[in-house]
Amino acid sequence: MKIVIFAPHPDDELIAAGGSILKWNKKGYDVYIVYITDGKTAYTKERERGRLIESEKTKISEEELAIIRSKEIDEVISFLGLPLENIYKLNIPSHFIKDFINQAIKRIKSIIKNTDLIVLPSNNNWHEDHQDTYDIVVSAAQKLQLHDVNFYGYAVYGENKAPKDKLIEIQVEKYSKKIHQAFKLYESQLCITHVLDYLHQVKSRKTELFGVYKLIDLGKYYNF
Ligand SMILES: [Zn+2]
Repeated sequence: MKIVIFAPHPDDELIAAGGSILKWNKKGYDVYIVYITDGKTAYTKERERGRLIESEKTKISEEELAIIRSKEIDEVISFLGLPLENIYKLNIPSHFIKDFINQAIKRIKSIIKNTDLIVLPSNNNWHEDHQDTYDIVVSAAQKLQLHDVNFYGYAVYGENKAPKDKLIEIQVEKYSKKIHQAFKLYESQLCITHVLDYLHQVKSRKTELFGVYKLIDLGKYYNF
């Protein structure tokens, strides 16, 4: 069983599917994670939104932040016990996915062929990187005609409005402590107020929720 999880930014994989990742890995499934952006604009954007807790550590350039975030991914992945070879960093600049669509789709196509399950952001996101990630992953899957593949849509920025018969709830209580510890390794993000909210949430999380679809369902649901 090959599972590919798409994270628009480093940390989305934990927020959306951290416990599920550990569960699937324990079952012996091949779990891959694709980080779409380098997340380098986080401080710039969050500063504008008034959600950044300033300190000496936040007085760095976007390029410096990109390097730190990339290192944090490696630490998190090692902590989770996944092989580093199962990680793809596309390093597209945040908020500029649209400028790299063709090369991103090409890369994603090579990663998702022979996949059984794709985990991706839901449709109808208010965060453009999450929406663009949804769009390019679906586009790559369409080009490959992955009709038998299941898509698990998660809603980080937006609502999960999947109907009951399309909802999958994965029990993750057993893993929440470890995910909380892993999340703290994304140290550069712990000065952003809404990230701290997520950190708090994952600590006591009992379930992770996904809308489950196939390509044939495309356009029929709010989230897909
Ligand atoms: Zn994100």
